[in-house]
Amino acid sequence: MQYRSSWMTEELDAFRDQFRKFLARDLAPHAEQWRKQKVVDRSAWRALGEMGALLPSVPEAYGGLGASFATDAAVFEDLESVVPELNNGVTVSSGIVAHYILNYGSEEQKLRWLPGMARGDLIGAIAMTEPGTGSDLQGVRTTARKQGNTYVINGQKTFITNGQTADLIIVVARTGGPGAKGLSLIVLETKENDGFRRGRNLDKIGLAAADTSELFFEDAVAPPENLLGAEEGQGFVQLMQQLPQERLIIAIGAVAAMERAVKLTVDYTRERQAFGKPILEFQNTAFILAERKTEAMIARVFVDFCIERLIAGDLDAVTASMAKWWTTQKQVETVDDCLQLHGGYGYMQEYPIGRMFVDARIQKIYGGTNEIMKMLIARSL
Ligand SMILES: Cc1cc2nc3c(=O)[nH]c(=O)nc-3n(C[C@H](O)[C@H](O)[C@H](O)COP(=O)(O)OP(=O)(O)OC[C@H]3O[C@@H](n4cnc5c(N)ncnc54)[C@H](O)[C@@H]3O)c2cc1C
Repeated sequence: MQYRSSWMTEELDAFRDQFRKFLARDLAPHAEQWRKQKVVDRSAWRALGEMGALLPSVPEAYGGLGASFATDAAVFEDLESVVPELNNGVTVSSGIVAHYILNYGSEEQKLRWLPGMARGDLIGAIAMTEPGTGSDLQGVRTTARKQGNTYVINGQKTFITNGQTADLIIVVARTGGPGAKGLSLIVLETKENDGFRRGRNLDKIGLAAADTSELFFEDAVAPPENLLGAEEGQGFVQLMQQLPQERLIIAIGAVAAMERAVKLTVDYTRERQAFGKPILEFQNTAFILAERKTEAMIARVFVDFCIERLIAGDLDAVTASMAKWWTTQKQVETVDDCLQLHGGYGYMQEYPIGRMFVDARIQKIYGGTNEIMKMLIARSL
């Protein structure tokens, strides 16, 4: 039986057909170079913008396509399957940062930033994590103090996706006292901002083409109108409201990666011979792939349910946490099994399964660790 996601439409089929061809023809040939230089070229962002693949669910008035989240989901799946090197940075800028601006920004902020992001001229990042605090966001120490008619930002962030390239960074900063109520989201514009400095492009074990950075704020400035939301102190609530979408996007990538790993491994084991026959004909190989194919299907059906809920506006934090922890756990198990079935070739850089193995591991950590996901789910018991 051919399963079809409930949110797919004929129009989206046509878009995806063109989009996948474009990715394979125009962008995939550059992926190795991006991995070597540890950053994706800006030209790729602009090319994605021209295809309408950045900010599709943002209204046309702000440069988007005015589509539903289904188009974002399709884009993220296709990136993960065809040029996974692009997925980390694009999901952050297009799937996360743009939606903070759309949901909490003033009309002026939306008109100022979203069209540039949709064209790929502006890249967005979100800076929550600090050297001293990751899971416990209430422990953020970066401050944004009003001095005259400006916010002066001081502190340090780390592990920030798009940190080397971002033009706009949503900084989670303390504008008030301790705890959640003292936090606000402030958009820092990196151009001509003397107090802002990008640190190292961090040396990761995977996601080679994604730039992930330390950021330093030493009297960096932002005008008061760069606060997201009508008043200070809304930051924590805004983060909690947006995290389900971020977690679902991670799960969408996990499902696409599982399906790709199974397909690559079926193809490989069908060709590779041992003891006089294709290794797919050994029952162990076939059973492992049968199990992983089943899990990928279950994951897809659950993630499709979550996508439907998000489009309807009622994806809750607990369900999104279930999707994030379970699909990423299964992704890591699947790529490990699939690498095993490639034998020694699986450990070689020239086979994509090796990269999929190292790239998968972070999925259980970022966007809220899987332990934090289970804590959130456990609170609902
Ligand atoms: C490649 C990459 C990209 C990233 N991109 C971004 C980004 O764009 N923006 C951003 O802000 N951050 C980003 N991060 C940071 C990421 O979100 C954090 O690393 C993550 O939230 C975990 O925080 P931490 O590293 O401080 O770990 P910690 O919070 O120190 O956790 C360490 C371990 O303790 C466990 N733990 C913590 N608290 C509890 C608890 N209460 N109960 C049980 N176990 C617990 C955790 O689950 C984990 O296993 C990125 C990280 C990486 C590696």
